[in-house]
Amino acid sequence: MWPRKRSAAVCSRCHQPAPGYDQLPERRFEFIPFWGFFVFLLYAMRRVDCRRCDAVVVEEVPWGDGKRTLTRAYMLFPARWARRLSWKETAEAFRTSWEKVFDAGEHVVTWGLERRILGQIDSIGVDEIQYAKGHKYLTLVYQIDIGITRPLWVGKERTIESFQGFFTAMGKNVISKIAFVCVGTLSETHPRKLFRGPPYPRPLPHRCKYEQGTR
Ligand SMILES: [Zn+2]
Repeated sequence: MWPRKRSAAVCSRCHQPAPGYDQLPERRFEFIPFWGFFVFLLYAMRRVDCRRCDAVVVEEVPWGDGKRTLTRAYMLFPARWARRLSWKETAEAFRTSWEKVFDAGEHVVTWGLERRILGQIDSIGVDEIQYAKGHKYLTLVYQIDIGITRPLWVGKERTIESFQGFFTAMGKNVISKIAFVCVGTLSETHPRKLFRGPPYPRPLPHRCKYEQGTR
């Protein structure tokens, strides 16, 4: 990809056009794979000499986000798929690594949290997933209410300690209204343990079991 001729680069700090400064070496942006083929966008980012910011700043591009190698479209794409598919299927379908799905999930969840679009959550699904050839685990939490299934939180590892991050991220107000917890294949993080003691203020919610990928 090349910048349009005579198009001014946009400062990524103040989001305004600014005079050019130089061009960085070409880098790869991972895009949504088509028919099983990896797709990369190649682009040499320009830097601007922004008078407003009084700094040399890398330009803002519509497909990328800072230092991430995944394009923005790709980051949103798996997150959308994950509403319908399990994360495992998502990663297999996208042939991407769990680190990247983790990053994308975290990014989208953060984006959502910043805009406070959580609303009331009645039911959550908690799942663990192996990655890095089964040597590492992630804890995944989805909202599984009727009409809305979406990833809520991704935690590194599958420990009680890491799960505390879910409570912190959601906040007491949201957590206290959760009535159902559906558990996939968690071995260590049994819901009885997950919801014991602070910061969870109520007794253990109802539990159900579900088969992975049947939602
Ligand atoms: Zn600027």
